[in-house]
Amino acid sequence: MNSLRFEIQAEDGEARAGVLTTRRGPIETPVFMPVGTAGTVKGIRFEELESEDLNARIILGNTYHLWLRPGIDVIKAAGGLHRFIGWERALLTDSGGFQVWSLGALRKISEEGTEFRSHVDGSLRFLSPEVSMDVQAALGSDIVMVFDECAPGAASHEETERSMQLTTRWARRSKTAFTQLQAEGADTGRVLDAAGLSGSQALFGIVQGAGHLDLRHHSLEQTVDIGFDGYAIGGLSVGEEKQVMFDVIDEIAPKMPKDAPRYLMGVGTPEDLVESVARGVDMFDCVLPTRNGRTGQAFTSRGKLNIKNAQWAQDSRPLDQSCSCSVCRRHSRSYLRHLYMSGEMLASILLTHHNLAFFLDTMRGVRQSIRSGDFPKFRREFTERLSANGE
Ligand SMILES: [Zn+2]
Repeated sequence: MNSLRFEIQAEDGEARAGVLTTRRGPIETPVFMPVGTAGTVKGIRFEELESEDLNARIILGNTYHLWLRPGIDVIKAAGGLHRFIGWERALLTDSGGFQVWSLGALRKISEEGTEFRSHVDGSLRFLSPEVSMDVQAALGSDIVMVFDECAPGAASHEETERSMQLTTRWARRSKTAFTQLQAEGADTGRVLDAAGLSGSQALFGIVQGAGHLDLRHHSLEQTVDIGFDGYAIGGLSVGEEKQVMFDVIDEIAPKMPKDAPRYLMGVGTPEDLVESVARGVDMFDCVLPTRNGRTGQAFTSRGKLNIKNAQWAQDSRPLDQSCSCSVCRRHSRSYLRHLYMSGEMLASILLTHHNLAFFLDTMRGVRQSIRSGDFPKFRREFTERLSANGE
């Protein structure tokens, strides 16, 4: 497969800085991808995501949510997800596996796939590797994820092994269905070949195995054996201890194929990102900057700051004195607190903007420091500053 190009341009320990070239242009890595669950990154306009302030090169869409609502007929009629939502930069879609997994007792898993009730209208739905590939082709995303099964963080070895083996079989079926769909031209996001880029979608495999390192190894081996354009670590940040998460990343990330992008799914806080880059990860997504923005929590270079706290009532400083985003250039903590306490929607919008700016800017700093050979220093200073609780 050659629908993606990935070039590592600098390394510092296990950390890598490079360029991931999708059919919609180059993306510098390590990269943070804002999550656009239902075809919108909540609380922020696409113009802002594209602005110098944020300059997000790639965002995520959720197959599960878009499949249930508005449904693929609507998105196909619009000519794919890019056109439907008005976003011309790169899009990655997840497979729906994780969302279905999150439904817990409401789902029924078989060899064939997963049956569950739609949270939108209660109808009985069935998601399988073939359906997921079909939906992701209709969405026309640039990076497609295989349909996987996620074992709970605390699952036994036996239960995790069963789940991991199912994920491998589903990965094989995903690739077969994906290849077939590409050949049939089902991908709505197809772009004309240009500058050596392939116009087709790229497909990533997912390594599972919860906190069991032997199963993680086994999963990695089997996934690489099938062969994908990129490789993800899934099933972390699902309630396991932080140390378990880092044990898995420590052990697995450096052993993933060096010449392919490595994506850590659904993780995490700014410090998780920096720590995972140090272990060789290239791509991240997480709802934290947007979700926490809506609940009054700001991520800053000096730790998390809860805008509800009375201590900011008359504080004329910006959220983060080291941040140059448009919110920090213009507004004080005092004003942002006032907006939040008054239930004004602008509070969520502004906090979301700043949080995304902070995540994206952190990754910019990470990339620069890897390129200049200063990543260990960047990592140490970044971690030290975070303990200041916003002060
Ligand atoms: Zn800011």
